[in-house]
Amino acid sequence: MLTVENIEVRYGGSEALRGAGLEVNRGELVAVVGPNGAGKTTLFKAISGTVPAAGRVTFEGADLLAMKPRDRAHLGIAHVPEGRKVFASMSVLENLEMGGSTEAGRADRRRAFERIFAMFPILAERRAQLAGTLSGGQQQMLAIGRALASCPRLLMLDEPSMGLSPVMADTIFDAVREIRREGGMTILLVEQRVTDALADCDRGYVLEGGRVMLHGTPAELSPEKLRRAYLGV
Ligand code: ATP
Repeated sequence: MLTVENIEVRYGGSEALRGAGLEVNRGELVAVVGPNGAGKTTLFKAISGTVPAAGRVTFEGADLLAMKPRDRAHLGIAHVPEGRKVFASMSVLENLEMGGSTEAGRADRRRAFERIFAMFPILAERRAQLAGTLSGGQQQMLAIGRALASCPRLLMLDEPSMGLSPVMADTIFDAVREIRREGGMTILLVEQRVTDALADCDRGYVLEGGRVMLHGTPAELSPEKLRRAYLGV
């Protein structure tokens, strides 16, 4: 479904991605882990189009790097960014409506909103509240809800547990599992909670220094191999 080959991103003089690549098949949950600064967020930005990148990225045969971010969203790619980035001065409902402005989202708006409110009832209760006044966990729910409102085929979640209490992080992981159980969606996940991410995924990639150091099924990514990849020993 998604193929990333030999991707390179530079910020001024420094190279954040140096030839990283990955493959995501339809229906999979693929986790990307790695130390701080490995390039995980940059990889997601390159896929959704918020940083310019060299290399090749195809989504169901379409050449993504040639497309604007908006057109990538219309193709069915939704990016829940690190730090959530909800529209703070808009209401919960307005945030969801922004997400739902893709063609697929407009076509299936009622069903999408019902699904979001069933998954996160607090968003229904607080639909008129300004997003900036929600707690961190509620903002994360809203960021995921906003992505779901676009009725994506590929959902990219960048560190959804970041800054949340362990209990709230568990709630978010439960939601990811539920999205997966419902089917119909492919998920690409960046996560600091490596054990959780790898326990749930079909395959994982370990990024380090802008390159893929290791990839495989959870069984193949043994703690010993991970330790070596992380510590570079
Ligand atoms: P973290 O887990 O800390 O979020 P990450 O694996 O997501 O890290 P990136 O945020 O993609 O890593 O950063 C990769 C490299 O690019 C780092 O060295 C970082 O300092 C650098 N970088 C990221 N964003 C910028 C930017 N806007 N300008 C300059 N350098 C940047």
